[in-house]
Amino acid sequence: MAKPTPMMAQYLALKAEAQDCLLFYRMGDFFELFFDDAKVAAACLDIALTARGEHDGEKVAMCGVPAHAAESYLARLIKAGHRVAIADQIEMPEEAKKRAGSKALVGRAIVRVVTAGTLTEEALLDSRAANWCVAIGEAAGGIALAAADISTGLFEVIETDRQSLSAEIARLAPAEIVAAEDSDAAVLATTLRPRGEFDSASGEARLKKLHGVATLDGFGQFSRAGLAAAGGLVAYLDHTARGSLPFLRPPVCSRTDACMAIDAATRESLELTQSVQGARAGSLLGAVDRTVSGAGARLLAQDIAAPLMNRESVEARLDCVQRLHDDPGLRDATRATLRALPDIGRALGRLAAGRGSPRDLGQLRDGLDGAWQLGERLEGIADCPPLLADLAPRLRGHGALIDLLRRALVPDPPVDTDKGGYIAEGFDAALDDLRRTGAGGRRAIAALEAKYRDETGINALKVRHNAVLGYHIEVPSRHGDKLMQPDSGFTHRQTLAGVVRFNSPELHETALKVTQAGVHALAAEAAHLEGLTATALDSREAIAATADALARIDVAAALAERAAEGGWTRPALVDHACFEVSGGRHPVVEAALAKSGERFVANDCILSENSRLWLVTGPNMGGKSTFLRQNALIAVLAQAGSYVPAAQATLGLVDRLFSRVGASDNLARGRSTFMVEMVETAAILAQATPRSFVILDEVGRGTSTYDGLAIAWAVVEAIHEDNRCRCLFATHYHELTRLAERCDALSLHHVRAREWKGDLVLLHEVADGPADRSYGLAVARLAGMAPATVNRAKAVLARLEAGREKTGGLAAGLDDLPLFAAMTEPEAEEGDALRDALEALDVDSLSPREALDKLYALKALA
Ligand code: ADP
Repeated sequence: MAKPTPMMAQYLALKAEAQDCLLFYRMGDFFELFFDDAKVAAACLDIALTARGEHDGEKVAMCGVPAHAAESYLARLIKAGHRVAIADQIEMPEEAKKRAGSKALVGRAIVRVVTAGTLTEEALLDSRAANWCVAIGEAAGGIALAAADISTGLFEVIETDRQSLSAEIARLAPAEIVAAEDSDAAVLATTLRPRGEFDSASGEARLKKLHGVATLDGFGQFSRAGLAAAGGLVAYLDHTARGSLPFLRPPVCSRTDACMAIDAATRESLELTQSVQGARAGSLLGAVDRTVSGAGARLLAQDIAAPLMNRESVEARLDCVQRLHDDPGLRDATRATLRALPDIGRALGRLAAGRGSPRDLGQLRDGLDGAWQLGERLEGIADCPPLLADLAPRLRGHGALIDLLRRALVPDPPVDTDKGGYIAEGFDAALDDLRRTGAGGRRAIAALEAKYRDETGINALKVRHNAVLGYHIEVPSRHGDKLMQPDSGFTHRQTLAGVVRFNSPELHETALKVTQAGVHALAAEAAHLEGLTATALDSREAIAATADALARIDVAAALAERAAEGGWTRPALVDHACFEVSGGRHPVVEAALAKSGERFVANDCILSENSRLWLVTGPNMGGKSTFLRQNALIAVLAQAGSYVPAAQATLGLVDRLFSRVGASDNLARGRSTFMVEMVETAAILAQATPRSFVILDEVGRGTSTYDGLAIAWAVVEAIHEDNRCRCLFATHYHELTRLAERCDALSLHHVRAREWKGDLVLLHEVADGPADRSYGLAVARLAGMAPATVNRAKAVLARLEAGREKTGGLAAGLDDLPLFAAMTEPEAEEGDALRDALEALDVDSLSPREALDKLYALKALA
């Protein structure tokens, strides 16, 4: 085997360090990729794949991207799910030569690993969504998550349990999930790291070191698992940033039960922050969001994803919304100020990650300045709610920094530092001098040009500048000879197709002055940039707190705006488990209807401790699903601290929210849908408490009529007798209405419809009592089924109904079935083997397939 070239040897060594990444290898103005990396990247980026030299007797595949445009290529690779390691030159070619002779290879090292969860670049991030990197830690039998958004420094440790883990992950919707190799959590991870990095003791040490504290008590109580998760996350971030750890604020410790528990299936079904199509539009968030800043949009998304369980905190948020709702002038002014402000949280994130630019400092200056003004306005208002009064002072803490940045920076600083010009005049006398020298030199050069034109009589003579020759004199070829004369005072430098280029001692001297002054001025500006960045970062915590306060105010003003726009109401929160909404609406459906000029019919939903289960029947398309969901959404909005789309709403806090839709609506998911439906329904029966709110939409319809009715029947009974939660249950099994006679907290309701001149009119109105008929055939006709088919169905129905009268129908014989609770007790006593088997079950560890097998095994015991 031939020895690889020195460059190839260097490449292979770097690649060995980053095997799970595509390696961007810096060569001059390009990042090059080789071998398989090149093939993958060329296909993904749609760029040319070429070859370079040979390795092991084979041509080496290669492709490259220009370094100055690397960001947009990175964005596409990351989006496609790749990780990219950046190997940059870590010395200048001259240094390499000094170090190891004229043929020396420039030293290169991996300076950063770019992954979906570790981005800070504006171009690579969605300004309105957080970008979480999450680590799962396990220790001492417990489990916890650590989550960081390094674009703003947010850092959260979430103490959870195995049952709630996937719900927490669904809440955060992380860009990347990190776990230890060979751990139980590894199946959930997108990135695996060595087990040693998830050790709780070293995690604790890492956190203490990161925040320079002797004890973590000030941040909250961490479990061993919490420390393992946080430690694993910090180690991973350190790994990707290659030792220059990005900005992380002190960790906020939270517990799963501080928020309404919403599992992944419920989030998906209610389309809280994403529609089924995966877009923000069409989701609850999309219908509510009136924020005017990226930070506000990110916070609102978090709030809606995590409704609170603490009444005081909810009321505090609502007080702010109300103050801004009731005062349109204050609201408008606040929103106008916020709209104009740059995203200081993300600017700070970039500066802290060492990727900041003069423009980021300019954004801090303008953002903090605007915050100051807003703070002043808010501190002066009458009846300031406590939360707002608490936030306002945080907006005004940066006078000295604003003043410094105002003096130091030009009004509109650039992203690029190459050309300088971002430090303002008058900030540094020495820099001003250098600039004056440069400007004087440039004037002198212009004067020289005029003088040479005069002396030579060549009007087309120009003094030009390029990177190779520096300043030089250029004349069209036909005048070249004249200047070639030995006594002309010009030295020939270059002859091109149409022009000849010269130098002169005078020009050389003046140009040298200009160049030197330019180099020194650039260096002086760079030093200032570094100094100013360091000064700003000294108060990073306080700046981040200001950014948080701005976001919180934006959210409050946006919710106030939304409430005013839609005529929403402030929900009243109470201690008992009621849910009383009158005139409730579904914000997404209402907005969609409004577009086509249709009106949404508002509906009441009154649940109380002795009327906690509503059975809703009525025709397809009658509005059952919409009614169920709108009430679940009202609970989410209320506990997120928002007004709600209703005329009036009083509710007791909901600890867990569940939404399940019967299988046939979910066919698109392409799983064994009935199995999924049952697994999910089982989870509700296992987890819902009397404080929970459950909506079940046509559960049981994924199987045959008899099975489906039987399951629906049993589920309603179990919820009524055991879970005792607030529940809306929509069904087309008319037979279930018989349950009203035996379940005293269950009441019957239906969506109204009318047949008018042979046509079905859906009124979308929820009324008391069962539906008088199912209107299935009328819906079929409405849907355009051929009249002959509808008539045939009518005849079949008549026969079936006649049969039902005679036999007592589908639910015949159910009337004397003992109630669920009464039935389980004696049977349980007999079935000890069954009980033992049940108790031995570790439900969490089962796959759906295993669950099914277990069910069969249990059935055999019964
Ligand atoms: P179901 O669950 O009974 O089949 P849906 O809730 O899916 O019915 O509603 C079907 C359609 O009826 C919705 O897409 C919407 O256009 C309309 N609709 C539902 N509820 C209302 C309402 N309260 N006011 C006006 N239109 C409604």
